Amino acid sequence: MAFELPNLPYAYDALEPFISKQTLEFHHDKHHAAYVNNLNNLIKGTEFENANIVDIITKAKGGIFNNAAQVWNHTFYFDQFGKNKIEKLSGQLLVAINASFGSFDEFKEKFSVAAKTLFGSGWAWLVKKPNGSLEIIQTSNATNPLTEGLIPILTCDVWEHAYYLDYQNKRPDYVGNFWSLIDWEIVSGRY
Ligand code: MN
Repeated sequence: MAFELPNLPYAYDALEPFISKQTLEFHHDKHHAAYVNNLNNLIKGTEFENANIVDIITKAKGGIFNNAAQVWNHTFYFDQFGKNKIEKLSGQLLVAINASFGSFDEFKEKFSVAAKTLFGSGWAWLVKKPNGSLEIIQTSNATNPLTEGLIPILTCDVWEHAYYLDYQNKRPDYVGNFWSLIDWEIVSGRY
């Protein structure tokens, strides 16, 4: 059973002007698709051929891990957007953010710093720990918090392919606009 590339849950131009149609065409149709194809090719004839994606992420190493994690990470990243959907966060996730970071603004600031300062390619994450509290972490390359027993809530892809066409070297501008795109209803549902 091969993995399939999920469609974007919105139009390619839905996130403009913050993330362009061209960026989404490359990011989804080329990068995300390549991870899916690579994974399908790599698992053929291995113990992971019929495994689910989370099992592969938590058990595999090397190329199989890298491609499986990038498949999962990109689906998770694309699913959390929807410009003009829900502008404000409320409910239990907001309560947990206030408890862990002091305020929503302090959370945004800390998450933004994590995304802006991550060296090289990787991801910034808001994660839920086993005790229910929240933490902001950075991971390099494909690494996914599920391998550490953490539950991902929100992520920012800071590989250059996520923003270079629109922002070139100005990663901080991409991270600043990231907040205008979050569908907080979807993110809250992950908590
Ligand atoms: Mn990416």
